[in-house]
Amino acid sequence: MRAFIPNYELFTPSSLADALALLDREPGVWKPFAGGTDLMVLLEAGKLPHRNYVNIWELEELRGIEAIDSHITLGALTTYTDVQAHPILQSEFPMLCQAASETGGLAIQNRGTLGGNIVNASPAADSPPALLAYDAEIELISTGGSRWLPYRAFHTAYKQMLIAPNELLARVRMPRNTRNATHYYRKVGTRKAQAISKVCLAALAKLEHDQISDVRIALGSVAPIVLRCTQTEDALRGEKANIDTIKLGCAKLEKEISPIDDIRSTADYRLQVAKNLLTDFLVTLRS
Ligand SMILES: Cc1cc2nc3c(=O)[nH]c(=O)nc-3n(C[C@H](O)[C@H](O)[C@H](O)COP(=O)(O)OP(=O)(O)OC[C@H]3O[C@@H](n4cnc5c(N)ncnc54)[C@H](O)[C@@H]3O)c2cc1C
Repeated sequence: MRAFIPNYELFTPSSLADALALLDREPGVWKPFAGGTDLMVLLEAGKLPHRNYVNIWELEELRGIEAIDSHITLGALTTYTDVQAHPILQSEFPMLCQAASETGGLAIQNRGTLGGNIVNASPAADSPPALLAYDAEIELISTGGSRWLPYRAFHTAYKQMLIAPNELLARVRMPRNTRNATHYYRKVGTRKAQAISKVCLAALAKLEHDQISDVRIALGSVAPIVLRCTQTEDALRGEKANIDTIKLGCAKLEKEISPIDDIRSTADYRLQVAKNLLTDFLVTLRS
């Protein structure tokens, strides 16, 4: 049943400083409302438990994509449409662009934000595997200042993360070290469009003197959080991309992930698909 709207409050601050001051004055009372594409679904279903929201959509300080030689930095309000349109993201971070193009339909892509995708913390979200594989870092801000942390340290358990009630996610940055790498992104869902992932894999690596180097593998929907598979990476690094290495990688991956049965799929199916995707990535790397 739809929620009773007068029970909810949405406050629009006139500046980022005002938004942060409000979050700080009454910690935990106010929550950010960005594009609203996750929150409105809960509201429509009458399942939005929190009552007070601060509308951050108008805050220009949280928008924009800036590139310097070493990094590219995206404001938390960067939409999926913004991601797909950016030339540096297209050429150096194609997995993020592909994730954006496979997220929802056009309306969701125009309104849904990267920051909302991260803080909503679904293990089935589609951008986080790409962000993990690209070694993203995130900036959290409050009236007390700013702190950066590696994105791979952010999610600690299902829907748990290292953000304080008085903090906003402000920016995401990725190092520009992906040239000459093979990038592989694959979302497996029930159908091509508007489907939540059953499994999603984002991986990149380079081949140096026939050996796998700088390998980074991340998976969604195979654990309580999106997962960077460091043990599998360790097993693959320095090896040739041949059949023995594929077997070794799949054996490591099987130990590292913990898929579950749920409404969308089964643990067995997810495990098999994850191994198939890793195999496909390693075959692509070789060819
Ligand atoms: C029809 C439909 C299809 C979808 N398809 C996909 C899909 O294919 N793949 C996918 O991954 N997702 C999908 N989604 C989910 C959703 O669109 C994304 O997660 C989106 O990125 C959320 O961003 P938002 O700005 O709308 O977040 P909001 O709904 O505004 O917020 C989500 C959560 O993040 C918090 N938050 C938002 N911004 C910040 C910030 N800057 N700092 C701190 N906290 C913040 C909010 O308080 C809230 O808890 C779909 C949703 C719908 C309705």
